[in-house]
Amino acid sequence: MIWNDEYETLPREAMEALQLKRLRDVVDRVYATVPFYRNKLSEAGFKPGDLRKLSDLARLPFTTKSDLRDTYPFGMFAVPMEEVVRVHASSGTTGKPVVVGYTRRDIDTWSELMARTLSCGGTTSGDVVHNAYGYGLFTGGLGAHYGAEKIGATVIPMSGGNTKRQIMIMQDFGSTILLCTPSYALNIADVMKEEGIDPDALKLKCGLFGAEPWSESMRKEIEKKLKISALDIYGLSEVIGPGVSSECIEEKHGLHIFEDHFIPEIIDPATGERLPHGEAGELVFTTVTKEAFPVLRYRTRDITRLFPTPCSCGRTLVRMERISGRTDDMLIIRGVNVFPSQIESVLMTVEGVEPHYQLIVSREGSLDVLEVQVEVNESLFSDEIKRLETLSRRIEHDIKDLLGVSCKVKLVEPKTIQRSEGKAKRVIDKRKI
Ligand SMILES: [Zn+2]
Repeated sequence: MIWNDEYETLPREAMEALQLKRLRDVVDRVYATVPFYRNKLSEAGFKPGDLRKLSDLARLPFTTKSDLRDTYPFGMFAVPMEEVVRVHASSGTTGKPVVVGYTRRDIDTWSELMARTLSCGGTTSGDVVHNAYGYGLFTGGLGAHYGAEKIGATVIPMSGGNTKRQIMIMQDFGSTILLCTPSYALNIADVMKEEGIDPDALKLKCGLFGAEPWSESMRKEIEKKLKISALDIYGLSEVIGPGVSSECIEEKHGLHIFEDHFIPEIIDPATGERLPHGEAGELVFTTVTKEAFPVLRYRTRDITRLFPTPCSCGRTLVRMERISGRTDDMLIIRGVNVFPSQIESVLMTVEGVEPHYQLIVSREGSLDVLEVQVEVNESLFSDEIKRLETLSRRIEHDIKDLLGVSCKVKLVEPKTIQRSEGKAKRVIDKRKI
């Protein structure tokens, strides 16, 4: 189901003309109103009016997370505070957060984008949307909330945590659409099983999961355990929050980027060079409609690739692959680039292994050591030691095969790895470098 027929199915030429017009407008605006951008653009020898074609975007300077920190809290705002109706902030555990602002029109844009996202999963005014994204400074909760209301669905503003109560509300209120992180969806499924609740007794039909990277095999696991369709959605507060891109239920393959608002690029994270469609690299966004907090060429640190293949859902929007890792999550182990999601994809192919794992990196002498702790299910764990050892060796072999890096696999008892009620902590890096 397509929320905005006009903009989600624009022919390529019309989309590019619209993007160019809006890009020129945003560059003019930030040049006039944000000292950071005026300086950056001047340093790059760029003046408003220099932007003639869409590919000139590649000449503009990047914006990084540290630029946003340096201008804390409101230095990147492009409108006076009287026009800002809302602020959100990133959940950084150390140091100052990144603060983002919205005008009334930005909130409308965001609601429209989340209405599109929810429609990608088939949400209509008849649905009961169970919103377990966190409410507060985090953009997930309120972003999804406004989108669901715009559609006219009934919203349950649950926020995260208290899993048993979540399940009770889902049963009693007849929740049909679930919104939360994918790791929390699994947590909900596990608690349901413990409580002896049959997923068929619930009315859930679809879940839109985001805010952390996850794998195709984790999708299958969630779909099987909760008996729903599970879609990947993407967004980040620096760009707008959730509502930047979404998978469609028709193909569940790649996330359509709402390109009339955000122009995506893929760059080589080491050189900053733009890469062609199909090549994997760092995802970069320029927001072309936002008023309070526009960003030019914001480096997301997320790794993916873009593909413009036509989709059976009818949207003409370019798709990005699910995020395969982050440039800053990327572990370099003995010189090899390793993403937690790659390890996860190996673990998910093994019978009896649960999707709860942690990577522990340490250093012995001058050598990096990677330990993969993963839970196995009850019946496997009570099995003979020899079988567990064989299984560990097999996983070690498969990881070495895929990544070219040796590791030690430790199978642990069910429920020994800490559960998340938000983003899962997958990596513990004990190296002191
Ligand atoms: Zn599609």
